Amino acid sequence: MIDMTRVLADTPGAAGRIFLNSAGSSLMPAPVLAEVLGHLRRETEIGGYEAADEREADREAGYGVFAELLGCRPDQVAFTDSATRSWLAALDAVPLAAGDRILVGEVEYGGNAIALLMRAQAVGATVEVVPSDADGTFSDEALKAMLDERVKLVSVVHVPTNGGIIADVRRISDTVHANSDALVLLDACQAVGQLAVDAEALDADILTGTGRKWLRAPRGTGFLVVRDRAKAILRPKLADLQGGTWTGPDSYVLRDDARVYELWECDNAGRLGLIAAARYLLELGPAAVEHEVTRRGAHLRAALAEIPGVTVHDLGARKSGLVTFSVAGKAAADVQAALARRDIAVSVSHRSSTVYDMTRRGLSEIVRASPHYFVTEAQLDVAAGAVAELAREGGV
Ligand SMILES: *Cc1c(COP(=O)(O)O)cnc(C)c1O
Repeated sequence: MIDMTRVLADTPGAAGRIFLNSAGSSLMPAPVLAEVLGHLRRETEIGGYEAADEREADREAGYGVFAELLGCRPDQVAFTDSATRSWLAALDAVPLAAGDRILVGEVEYGGNAIALLMRAQAVGATVEVVPSDADGTFSDEALKAMLDERVKLVSVVHVPTNGGIIADVRRISDTVHANSDALVLLDACQAVGQLAVDAEALDADILTGTGRKWLRAPRGTGFLVVRDRAKAILRPKLADLQGGTWTGPDSYVLRDDARVYELWECDNAGRLGLIAAARYLLELGPAAVEHEVTRRGAHLRAALAEIPGVTVHDLGARKSGLVTFSVAGKAAADVQAALARRDIAVSVSHRSSTVYDMTRRGLSEIVRASPHYFVTEAQLDVAAGAVAELAREGGV
């Protein structure tokens, strides 16, 4: 059970509006904001290096906090400035040669896909899409049939940016590992903070995520987990004096842990905020959060599905807190704007973010509502009522 009184007291923005965009960038809770502002103030008072030195132990403790949150060891954690930065660092370090194959799912994220295509085209590798099963997750049979020794990487999106699917990550990892030496790269960007995510239980070799979405951390923060199988295979390409040490005019040594993927410079206020957000989540309990978010997603989805003229687009046997829909006769941006006028925040997901998936489903844009645990059921009902009004205007 989540202490809603505490949560709402920590989230003043949740009272004045119906905030359904935690899949975009959520509302930071008060302890996170206090950490960020406090550190910025301290930098102003005594200087950036001095302020960082004061919080050295806390920054170091952050690796342990994320290890606890994500089911890995502290030395397997790196901090970055976004999920994509983490993902690119990992992709860049995967040894790839002409003829190698990379497998992705149909809900692959645009930011990942562009980089994959660039890298594959540069080396002469191929990017191939694994067909989905009826639940929208990797078809096990298709995946098995596609795996061979030339597959070096399988990119799995835990929860896509444009829908409710929760991938069956463990089943996918098991199939990949039983049938190839490929690494499983898990984009957990939309999962961490709404679902309990355990890298070891999921047997993902690499995991990436962001601060600003469900984790409720500041923007410009991200994290990377590199587990041992990946560490043995990955070859970091470019490090600075965080990732390495310049030992002589022609020599350097690289760090032996995941921080080889970090750069020396970072936004320390943001980093401390990220760590505070993870602590906040651990206090609430990731399993309790998962329960509450999933419940809210299901509640809103059911309410929207009953409205004439509204189509809910979510696939998946198990569904997350991302709820996607369209209103007949209304452009997604118009729905978003009309809801914004009623202080209801949603976002729009365009085809270009998930080209494989939207193309196959014949969709060009959908409205995305993503309620976190701080949204009340009454607020969800008000939001559904507002959508119903729009649907009536839409002439249905
Ligand atoms: C938002 C998102 C990303 C990118 O996260 P950034 O922090 O913007 O880099 C990656 N994958 C998925 C599925 C996303 O929804």
